[in-house]
Amino acid sequence: MKILVTGGAGFLGSHLSEAWLGRGDEVTVLDPAPDLKIRHLRANPKFRVIRESVLERAILEGLVAWADLVYHLAAVVGVEHYVGDPYQVLTVNINGTQEVLGAAFRHQKKVVFSSTSEVYGRNPAVPFHEDSDRVLGTTQIDRWCYATSKAAGEHFCFAFARMGLPVVVLRYFNVYGPRLDRLDSGRVVTIFMGQLLRGEPLTVIGDGSQTRAFTYVADAVRATVEAGLRREAEGWAINVGSEEEVTIRELAARMIKLSGSPSRMISVAKEAVYDRGYEDVPRRVPSVRRMRELLGVRAAVTLDEGLGRTIEWFKRQ
Ligand code: UDP
Repeated sequence: MKILVTGGAGFLGSHLSEAWLGRGDEVTVLDPAPDLKIRHLRANPKFRVIRESVLERAILEGLVAWADLVYHLAAVVGVEHYVGDPYQVLTVNINGTQEVLGAAFRHQKKVVFSSTSEVYGRNPAVPFHEDSDRVLGTTQIDRWCYATSKAAGEHFCFAFARMGLPVVVLRYFNVYGPRLDRLDSGRVVTIFMGQLLRGEPLTVIGDGSQTRAFTYVADAVRATVEAGLRREAEGWAINVGSEEEVTIRELAARMIKLSGSPSRMISVAKEAVYDRGYEDVPRRVPSVRRMRELLGVRAAVTLDEGLGRTIEWFKRQ
């Protein structure tokens, strides 16, 4: 098959591209970002990178026409961006998704849209089922612009689905693994990683009782490939995650133990990490029934295993 991956130079996109190439398929990545995460794939003759934005209409159109299946992962992601540049988040995530779906509709190509567990916001009722309510704060808190942009993308997906386009919406739960982000930036795992490698204290925001269900990238990729292949997934939103809920304190403790680093953990105010516009999600855990039933996938990598592999990878870098 011919697979187009928008945002394929990012963390998840790079692993997804690798998986499809591993199956013997052809992959084209559309991504304006530097190719650090996909350099190792360049030698493969079935792999191609177009360093442009999804907002470049003519280029997008040609690539969608070429593809048999479109993965739309291109987005501005990471809390630092939600609170640092909400304009970019909204523009790329909403307009980009509309462009990709429009092109896919014209050429009748199936789209798998990468959404996020962030769409559930801070709904206190966990686990989150795909039909659970979305509970977001005020629009004056920039953090929520990402959830809003992805939810708008989902609405566009379902609007196109009503017009007959095959679409699958995947809501990822804190996916992590090798190549996640630069050390010290992006998501909590890479922020803690940088601190661990220098033996500095791990900055746990608040009392660290907030929880997440961290999902190892190999599990997320298996689900993502199946979403592209299976007809029965079309027309659905599906959580992609692990059921192993941990507090952030526990995450910090495990990372310290697994890395053998002399680091301790300290509690910091949210202002110490994000200056403004930040609000935390107290608990985030998926219901994984749909992932199991529609995609035939269960998260298989435990947090200890996944963190172990991730820590090893970052140490080697
Ligand atoms: N977090 C933390 N210390 C940091 C960065 C993040 O304790 O230096 C916490 C953050 O408050 C949140 C969790 O780690 O509860 C996950 O944060 P991340 O930004 O990775 O993603 P989120 O799940 O909030 O989208």
